Amino acid sequence: MQPMSPRTSPSLSQVSRRDVSESNRSHVLWHLYRHGVASRARIAEALGLTPAAITKITARLISSGLIAETGDIEGSRRRRSIGLALNTERFHFIGVKFARSLVEVGVFDLAGGRISLIDLPDVADDTVGEAVAAIHRTIDRLLAGDERIVAIGMAVPGPYLRQTGRTALVSSMPHWRDIDFIEEFAQGSPVPVIIEQDARAGALAQRLFGEPDGTGSLAYYLLGEGVGLGVIESGRLVNGSLGAATELGHVSIDVNGRPCECGNVGCLERYCSAGAIHEQIDRRGLVPGSRSMTHRQACERLFEASERGDEGARELVRQVGRYAGYGCVTICNAFNPSRIVIGDIGAMGGDVLLDAVRATVAERVIPQIADATDISLSALPTDATVLGAAAAAITEFLDHPMRFAGIPGARTGTGRRKTPRN
Ligand SMILES: [Zn+2]
Repeated sequence: MQPMSPRTSPSLSQVSRRDVSESNRSHVLWHLYRHGVASRARIAEALGLTPAAITKITARLISSGLIAETGDIEGSRRRRSIGLALNTERFHFIGVKFARSLVEVGVFDLAGGRISLIDLPDVADDTVGEAVAAIHRTIDRLLAGDERIVAIGMAVPGPYLRQTGRTALVSSMPHWRDIDFIEEFAQGSPVPVIIEQDARAGALAQRLFGEPDGTGSLAYYLLGEGVGLGVIESGRLVNGSLGAATELGHVSIDVNGRPCECGNVGCLERYCSAGAIHEQIDRRGLVPGSRSMTHRQACERLFEASERGDEGARELVRQVGRYAGYGCVTICNAFNPSRIVIGDIGAMGGDVLLDAVRATVAERVIPQIADATDISLSALPTDATVLGAAAAAITEFLDHPMRFAGIPGARTGTGRRKTPRN
């Protein structure tokens, strides 16, 4: 951005007025997002703003193409009034999930409805560069084919350092650390790119598309190729100074335990990530041919066997549930959320896993806190992380609407990134 000369730079009061206007526009969008159609009078009442202010704000949102009038609705005192609604069908969002060996790219509408989902070829540590090129090709193709795509959300393994655009550690796949996600994907993109740590993206998906929760305090506990946590407190993500807060996977559950690449020992991730479960499956010979499977495949077979009643499989799933439960104990004590949602590969563990998690929490957490914490498996129709990547983009759209004003239909002919890839 060019520095502004003193003569043209806005005064502090102008800046804060602009911030307040954008914040009010955001409040209106969130209200419509949550409640569907509403009249200006209803929005004014809900947000505590004057009818005149709402008229001005909604006029701007209508002229920007973000919302539209829907025709007459029943107003208060049986007066007819004009409804307003988000232009839901005009906006699509790409979600990209980077999960070490798995990359998924989906297109979603504003309500989280899935339009398409693509699994890219499995990634090995020495093929990260090829995976990045494949992601660029996929995004380019999707953008070219769908004018309504207005933003891209990316969910990357944590700890993700948001200032530098890099992940600080990706256990077992160090080459992902070489990728500067901001430079690689955000710079030169024709639409805004929002990058979020994977579990935090999952938390955003739970907030947007999961069961409504009045308290605004929610933890999304990712049990996948890594172990992660996203916490929403008072409606906002807990980020930390570098964006590396809530790294539950590197909380030790055994100070004399298994060493971890992060420098700690006994990290939770060493006991209940998909890779750690896969090791146990191989060692116990629970799944025929497991050694040549991906972590995800091996875990899926294990959970299927457990579901069928195979006692060996059940015993391992219960053990994984106990370890996952130790993580929940820390979540309860550190954040006291009203709800913990377990997602990703671990969510396929079913009741055997969930019962073991709940039993561990009941045993080890102060009863008043344990009793007030609802623990469940993610019930989102699509994997919460790829949906979460889109949720990160949708959240940005609702939080900063003017960043997206005029994008629909005006996206063609924008500059593309610096170098072609092969
Ligand atoms: Zn660690």
